[in-house]
Amino acid sequence: MALGKDYAQQQCSIARALEIVGERWTLLLVRDAFYGVRRYSDFLAHLGVPRAVLAARLQALVDAGVLDRRRYQESPPRDEYVLTGRGLALWPVLWALGAWGRAEVPGSLPMRHFHHADCGTELDPRGICPVCRVPVDPADVEMRPGAGLDPDPADPVGRALLAPRRLLTPLDPAATS
Ligand SMILES: [Zn+2]
Repeated sequence: MALGKDYAQQQCSIARALEIVGERWTLLLVRDAFYGVRRYSDFLAHLGVPRAVLAARLQALVDAGVLDRRRYQESPPRDEYVLTGRGLALWPVLWALGAWGRAEVPGSLPMRHFHHADCGTELDPRGICPVCRVPVDPADVEMRPGAGLDPDPADPVGRALLAPRRLLTPLDPAATS
């Protein structure tokens, strides 16, 4: 029997989740959405993903209920993509993946630091504020640039992300460049 292209025969919850977020680029799109990226052109600028792939991945995330497509301009028509509740629920997944990468994948640099916005303390590897002793919601996380960060000068999103910012705050590269 030939191997299928998906895990449709799999009942395992990990396999079923990977049906939604397991394709190349998809989790990076979700990551950028937490960083505040909402617009097609900004995802394109920051990730350098081929246009057709980006359009397909965004559509798949909308179809899966991870992103919500909202029209923000009528002429010409422009949409933005915002995490739904289902998308926001991916935060612990991304957090754990980042912590695993830093611990287990040689060469992974702490490109960004994540702090509890209320008290300024850096979160521990579990995503918990060591001072307040609570797991911190992404909306209460302040992201600060790490020493290893060196964005492409041609990437306005990367440059905008050099400033400390709260996660999920809509990013407007034009306002910061
Ligand atoms: Zn705290």
